[in-house]
Amino acid sequence: NLTKRHIIQWLQNSAAVFERQRDYLTELDTAIGDADHGLNMQRGFSKVLEKLPTVADQDIAAILKSTGMTLLSSVGGASGPLFGTFFIKAAQRTAGQETLDLTLFQQMLQDGVDGIVARGRAEAGDKTLCDVWLPVLTSLTDSERQKATLPQALQSAVETAESALAATIPMKARKGRASYLNERSIGHQDPGATSVLYLLQALSAAVR
Ligand code: ADP
Ligand code: MG
Ligand code: MG
Repeated sequence: NLTKRHIIQWLQNSAAVFERQRDYLTELDTAIGDADHGLNMQRGFSKVLEKLPTVADQDIAAILKSTGMTLLSSVGGASGPLFGTFFIKAAQRTAGQETLDLTLFQQMLQDGVDGIVARGRAEAGDKTLCDVWLPVLTSLTDSERQKATLPQALQSAVETAESALAATIPMKARKGRASYLNERSIGHQDPGATSVLYLLQALSAAVR
């Protein structure tokens, strides 16, 4: 099961990966956006990392909520509210829980993604971060049905995310800044969807 230690490790790993991939994410956002996605994610998660010691003695729900609030208040643009909402909604599902089994973990991500959809109104195929989240949720439900362990389920989720991310390349953007480009958004990988893969890789590494 996922423990508080795993959640903290997840957030630390995330901060590290957004530090490492900042320029690459910004490059992706240069092609179909305003060249700030890497900076947005790096800034947000460095703030999350900074805040971690102040919440580390609290429970999982409080840590996730603080993460969401920090992202919401420190990241502008589309991604701040979307990733912020994700963590805040996810936090609510974990209230009072010391550990998360695969079922609860899947429900937690589902609630987080529902929050993103409620806010951004993106549908599958719109070339947004939802195009990675939605297949990942299905993958986790399948793993749960097959009684997979959490590390196995996360490994499959990462593989699903990798192919889902590649599938954003031929999509035409229908939401966010990239949609202003219309046909010209085709042929580029979505920056936000790339960040979702990084979050999942960070979690998978924390649990392994
Ligand atoms: P901005 O576009 O405001 O500069 P970012 O560059 O940080 O914000 O984030 C861009 C990413 O946000 C896109 O690659 C896309 O994945 C995601 N995004 C934009 N609009 C939406 C939306 N309505 N729903 C879901 N994701 C969205
Ligand atoms: Mg941008
Ligand atoms: Mg911007």
